[in-house]
Amino acid sequence: MSSADETFRHELRTWLAEHPPPGIAVATSPEEAEALRRWQRTVHAGGWVGIHWPVEYGGRGAPLAQVAIYNEELARARVPDIPGRAGVTLVGPTLMAHGTEEQRMRWMPRILAGDDIWCQLFSEPGAGSDLAGLATRAARRGDIYVVTGQKVWSSHAQFADWGIALVRTDPSSHRSKGLSMLAIPMTASGVDARPLRQMTGESEFNEVFLDQVEVPVENLIGPEGQGWRVANTTLGNERGGGFIWKQQVRQEMAFELLAKSCAGAGRLRDPLVRQRLAGAWIDVELFRLHNARTLGRLARGEEIGAESSLVKLFWAGASQRLYETACDVLGAEALLSGAWTQGLLSTRANSIQGGTSEIQRTVIGERILGLPRPPV
Ligand SMILES: Cc1cc2nc3c(=O)[nH]c(=O)nc-3n(C[C@H](O)[C@H](O)[C@H](O)COP(=O)(O)OP(=O)(O)OC[C@H]3O[C@@H](n4cnc5c(N)ncnc54)[C@H](O)[C@@H]3O)c2cc1C
Repeated sequence: MSSADETFRHELRTWLAEHPPPGIAVATSPEEAEALRRWQRTVHAGGWVGIHWPVEYGGRGAPLAQVAIYNEELARARVPDIPGRAGVTLVGPTLMAHGTEEQRMRWMPRILAGDDIWCQLFSEPGAGSDLAGLATRAARRGDIYVVTGQKVWSSHAQFADWGIALVRTDPSSHRSKGLSMLAIPMTASGVDARPLRQMTGESEFNEVFLDQVEVPVENLIGPEGQGWRVANTTLGNERGGGFIWKQQVRQEMAFELLAKSCAGAGRLRDPLVRQRLAGAWIDVELFRLHNARTLGRLARGEEIGAESSLVKLFWAGASQRLYETACDVLGAEALLSGAWTQGLLSTRANSIQGGTSEIQRTVIGERILGLPRPPV
């Protein structure tokens, strides 16, 4: 680590020690959503939101090593994700690549400051893995689009101000052709976000119904009909912003807690428990090494490409295995703490979100292992 990186870590640690976060992980009410928004404003005032954004757009232009340090420190301090995460990791980079200067000036400062919270409106009931099959229609009428359709799985849409939406502007188009990207105000007439209750008891996702929603043409991001290209930028950033480093630290911390709980209760005398813990530790180490390799490649200016599928697949499996191990070895004690069973349930989503494990395996098979594609 360079001395600049050490100074960076020290500065961030000091700031975090002086600014305790609210004890809310996920907003379940408008009040909690507002508390998290206030937290983002505090973080922004400290200059700690969007550190990977270029300085000209309000970021710090932080190098990758510092983005990794940043996420490590935030995870260790148990800082909740800012509510504007989708805006910072997805929308900002998409605007930098495809937006007009007017759009960047209009939205980007508000994204960092937590004034505008964005959600991602891509998936539909009939289009998840197969996103190009989406059906939400945006018909041009003069200087507005009239949007009608349904989105689903839209994280935090119930508290969002804006949605970045992939829609079909050419009704005769097929698959990825004829799609466009629109910024939809979530307060517009005809937008109805209905929270879906998950098995964790939380309502992170929503169904979003769009009924004749009028969206000004100036909210088109990138050229009409080029939405697929714009969406690829958005999706390429989905796990960006250090997501995977934060997960690594969370995994390490959960393992340390599990090992301590087992040691405290004398469970380590059981060879089967030791074997399960050794398996979990190997997962933690492999995850760390995967990430170290990715960081090394990025630092050398190399592309990650299909390797990100390998890390995503590994993380999804490892996080699920860790909580299964915890519940198996702790038994009823896991039920008492709540956190282990909560983790057991919430990590089921990891093999679906950001591309399912089956899709990652296909990418690895075809693009890393060079296996033949199945006949169509
Ligand atoms: C926590 C979480 C947050 C999310 N947040 C958002 C969000 O904010 N905005 C948003 O737009 N979306 C969001 N999603 C949606 C996510 O992107 C989709 O769930 C995901 O892409 C899978 O799509 P699907 O649910 O329609 O499943 P489907 O694509 O219908 O897949 C169903 C099953 O079939 C398998 N399958 C599908 N196609 C293939 C194939 N070609 N080969 C082999 N197996 C296949 C899948 O692996 C899966 O097991 C979120 C999902 C989760 C879990």
